Amino acid sequence: AEAQLRQIQKMEAVGQLTGGIAHDFNNMLAVVVGGLELAKRKIAAKSGDVERHIDNAMEGANRAAALTRRLLAFARAEPLLPQGMCPDALVRGMTDLMDRTLGERIKVEIISPTDPWQIWVDRHQLENAILNLAVNARDAMENDGVLTIRTGNATLAADEIGESVAGDYVRIDVSDTGAGMSQDVLERVFEPFFTTKPIGKGTGLGLSQIFGFVRQSGGEIAIASVEGEGTTVSLFLPRHKAEHAENAGGKSPEASGHA
Ligand code: ADP
Repeated sequence: AEAQLRQIQKMEAVGQLTGGIAHDFNNMLAVVVGGLELAKRKIAAKSGDVERHIDNAMEGANRAAALTRRLLAFARAEPLLPQGMCPDALVRGMTDLMDRTLGERIKVEIISPTDPWQIWVDRHQLENAILNLAVNARDAMENDGVLTIRTGNATLAADEIGESVAGDYVRIDVSDTGAGMSQDVLERVFEPFFTTKPIGKGTGLGLSQIFGFVRQSGGEIAIASVEGEGTTVSLFLPRHKAEHAENAGGKSPEASGHA
């Protein structure tokens, strides 16, 4: 619980700090990229070498811009717009995007529940979370590998996973056959800015953002990882009750809603 409190305090501080910086920094980078682009056009006819240096600068600036966009999204704490949905259908709807993102060397397997439960979450954020987990899985698989996304049902006791409230959850497992994590890494993955990836590649904001989203949605997140074998990240999202079923076409028999 103390580690979780530290995590939340750290996220708040990061949010306040980055909000202002990210906005200004992004404007400055737009100037850098624009200027380099003009210079490149003028020099192109003369020296290929100059062009290469400018290309490098542009790539760096573009990476920085991508980082600030993520920082902004992180700091903004966008209000969640939850709706009823079938998570398995959402995952299946992402297969094209997933194939494009992961490339040929990674096989994607999707496993559906026999009795699909509905959830009540922000659709865009859930897609974002799953895509982020898929990219992490890809990065952990150096050569070939299999990414498996399994959607199922889980009934949890209070505090069974993190601070879970007793009740029904949909469980989404994102598994890879990659490098896995050491105990040291595993203990720090939810910290904002914690990354083991090279500068420009990792921001260390993926899992902390997912942690925030899942908690705000009344859910929980758990990670199981074995070095050299792979990693499974499990999202537990509260089952959507019949109260909202008119939006969701839900088949949940319960009459009571959840907060
Ligand atoms: P980033 O991906 O930008 O580094 P994340 O917060 O998503 O930020 O992840 C933090 C770190 O957790 C990664 O740098 C990596 O060391 C580790 N990690 C995350 N997902 C996996 C995975 N599927 N397999 C192995 N390590 C992982």
